[in-house]
Amino acid sequence: MRPLTPGAYLKMRRCAAQMSVADVAARIATAPRLAEHARVELIELIEADAAPASFATIVVFNNVYAFDLEVLATLERISLGADLPAPRLCRICACSEFDPCVGRTTFGPCSWVAADLCSACASPSLASAAA
Ligand SMILES: [Zn+2]
Ligand SMILES: [Zn+2]
Repeated sequence: MRPLTPGAYLKMRRCAAQMSVADVAARIATAPRLAEHARVELIELIEADAAPASFATIVVFNNVYAFDLEVLATLERISLGADLPAPRLCRICACSEFDPCVGRTTFGPCSWVAADLCSACASPSLASAAA
């Protein structure tokens, strides 16, 4: 399986946080300040790997929804051609060892139930019962 691109990873983590692009746009302040519609466009381009994200933008995203900076850096290295093992991520929510789902299960952070599936995504009914 091809590893996720950095943009696809950001998108999966945003969706896992149940936030829309507009939600994120409303909560980030970019410098220089962009109008909200321009921020929506920027987020969509970054998630499509069609525009580079500044380091500041990445950090601001990280304040708004959970993802792992080391995973993102590894995916970026792979996309640039580095021969590295792909980070282990859940195929549904893209959580990782370093960035487990918290609050989606009644039993604390999620764990692996398959090579690419976490316990929070494996039992969604249980997760919603806990919410
Ligand atoms: Zn998951
Ligand atoms: Zn998880």
